[in-house]
Amino acid sequence: MGELRASDLALVREQLGREPQSDFSVLVRCADGHPLVIRNHPVDAEGDPFPTLYWLTCPEAVKAVSRLEADGWIKRLDETLGGIGEGLDDSHEEYAEERARWHEGARDWGGVGGTRKGIKCLHAHYANHVAGGRDPVGRWVAGQIEPIHRDEDLSPRVAAVDMGTNSIRLLVAEADDGDVRELARDMVITRLGQGVDERGRLDPEALRRTLKVLERYVRRARGLGVERIRVGATSAVRDAVEREQLEDAVELMTGSGIEVLTGEQEAGLTFLGATVGLEAESPFLVFDIGGGSTELVLGTGEPERAISVDVGSVRVTERVKPDDPPSSEDLDEMRRLVGEGLDQALDLVPPPRRGTLIGVAGTTTTVQALALGLDRYDPEAIHRTELTLEAAADVAQLLASMTNPKRAALPVMAPGREDVIVAGCVILLEIMDRWGFEWCLVSERDILDGLALEMVRETASG
Ligand SMILES: [Zn+2]
Repeated sequence: MGELRASDLALVREQLGREPQSDFSVLVRCADGHPLVIRNHPVDAEGDPFPTLYWLTCPEAVKAVSRLEADGWIKRLDETLGGIGEGLDDSHEEYAEERARWHEGARDWGGVGGTRKGIKCLHAHYANHVAGGRDPVGRWVAGQIEPIHRDEDLSPRVAAVDMGTNSIRLLVAEADDGDVRELARDMVITRLGQGVDERGRLDPEALRRTLKVLERYVRRARGLGVERIRVGATSAVRDAVEREQLEDAVELMTGSGIEVLTGEQEAGLTFLGATVGLEAESPFLVFDIGGGSTELVLGTGEPERAISVDVGSVRVTERVKPDDPPSSEDLDEMRRLVGEGLDQALDLVPPPRRGTLIGVAGTTTTVQALALGLDRYDPEAIHRTELTLEAAADVAQLLASMTNPKRAALPVMAPGREDVIVAGCVILLEIMDRWGFEWCLVSERDILDGLALEMVRETASG
């Protein structure tokens, strides 16, 4: 279902006053950090349908909505749908489709709050609105009850989107003393870069999937009071011949268009995100294994040397087209391709004599989740922990011995990563080997945090 921090599980347990029924991830937080809306897995722990995808958990928000329900607003809205009722059927449909993203069989379990027509529960509509749903009832509720906490912080809020080759990610944050405080974070694997390496153009279906997620992200950010949304796109978009359609769509949604980041910008932002507030031996060598490319950046306070090489988990997988599970020839071929790419980088970013190697992004963090033996993906348990070369090699070997469905069934594996992570592991090991590090620090903060940090710093300096 996504990420879940142990601290959030404890908070949600307290908010609900019981054990959560289903796996969930926190989508949106209130200003002081506690969960506001969670996304439930559509099937509960007993295997029964759990149709309410978005769930309101902040007790004060729940109370505020309950007051509206107690005043009879469900009936009143249902009877006099008037202006706000417009589009209600569409929002039920959109909700069902969204739920099917997480569990294909859940498409027919009704719309918002599990109902097909009309309004059943204002909490469910409001949660859907906060999560970025196009929901006229939820939007009406927001107008009645927000701000929920009377002392709502008025720090500037920004939203950053990282449109990568494999996934699209969102961070909504507010300025916090030179750093950012997270209000919403999300990641959906849409594989935008599917086939780009081969055909040099974006796949229309992958583009549609990605824009659908972006639309929800933008509405979620706007609902949180964000004015400026920055969409950074990396390798897949950079290499696509026909990217106007994507650029036009993003412009229309965000009003600020898409920033196609150069490899150098990508490296700088990743460095910023990964090293903010970090106390470790410098210089820092940060690496980011993406779907289409891998970045390496070396620096102390600022990036000093950076390179982006066309070696990524999706790209290498598509080139080698490995058996399932990969044969030893497949693995050799991956090592050869990866080695070729990385050797070009050694000249520009030579191994430092000392310092700290820092790994960001899904391949490295997932390997660490497995090395740590986590039974769910907990970013708090992963962030800034040490991954040894030995442990990484063990995990790589284990993953390479498994089939795609076996890897997909691992509880820490993000859906859509299972078939490319073997190539990702090859890149990870080859980096540690070539740059001569016995361990690396694994960071959950990366280019997405870098994008948001740069925005709040620009805002602060006027
Ligand atoms: Zn709250």
